[in-house]
Amino acid sequence: MSGDIIREESMTDLWNVWFSELHQNRVGLTIKVKRLLYSGESPFQRIDILDTYEFGKMLVLYGSIMITEKDEFIYHEMLGHVPLFTHPNPKEVLVIGGGDGGTVRETLKHPEVERVTMVEIDELVVRKCQEFFPEVAGQISNPKTRLLFADGEKFLSSTQEKFDVILCDAADPIGPAEVLFQKSFHQMAYDRLNDDGIFVTQSESPYFHQRTFKKLYENLSRIFPIVRVYWAYIPTYPSAIWSFTFCSKKYDPLADFDRERYNKLQLETNYYNDEIHHAAFVLPNFIRKLING
Ligand code: SAM
Repeated sequence: MSGDIIREESMTDLWNVWFSELHQNRVGLTIKVKRLLYSGESPFQRIDILDTYEFGKMLVLYGSIMITEKDEFIYHEMLGHVPLFTHPNPKEVLVIGGGDGGTVRETLKHPEVERVTMVEIDELVVRKCQEFFPEVAGQISNPKTRLLFADGEKFLSSTQEKFDVILCDAADPIGPAEVLFQKSFHQMAYDRLNDDGIFVTQSESPYFHQRTFKKLYENLSRIFPIVRVYWAYIPTYPSAIWSFTFCSKKYDPLADFDRERYNKLQLETNYYNDEIHHAAFVLPNFIRKLING
């Protein structure tokens, strides 16, 4: 996928600036740009931050949309609350990637969480998100947050710490994120989880990225006893259908949904709720077929 900023003269406006994210170089999402807020290169990737008419500010890494102000809540609520309302007492949470801080924000809405460790490879992404997306990145400076700038795979291979929940909020399996889609990384995640631990990874679009999605499911099914896919509708992600793969050593996301904690917490969300928690695991046949081979 590549993103180009194209300029197009039109009858109505002096200049229309559009950002296009292309999928498989055959399909694209085009969004009208109000202003270019930042463009730069880190040692890991190109970073662009655009202000758009429809989706507000948008973080783009290597030409791919990572978050927008308008729809980031969907992805972060679904990545965070499904596992955190399944594990009965998630004290130690690890977020791999997640440089924008949205997953940390949702994680810290759970009072049981004593510490969330965020291992993000690119410090420039964090600093720019703190500057341009304070409503997303605000909890990175929470005293409960431990922020480490490192490769998630190297961190897991060197730490002896254990976690209750590990959330892989990686970008697409290209560049620095490629290692986060490998079986060896998933085995390390399994090893770094407590005996009742849960691992959830974003697992791409089951429409546009079927090979990656299927391989991920197969690999994880060989490592974890419980592996289930859930999905959400995210307008600015490729195909707008986005998947998450839930992996667990003990708890089932439906049978062990902690309704008492859910009712007590009265969480303020805009997408996730108790019914969505269950409905998200209901899969269209084309996804079932991908999973069942
Ligand atoms: N929601 C987005 C998605 O589904 O594609 C992910 C957003 S988040 C910005 C992705 C983050 O993963 C980026 O900040 C990137 O720098 C980070 N990242 C990529 N490879 C990594 C690695 N090996 N270890 C830690 N962080 C990594």
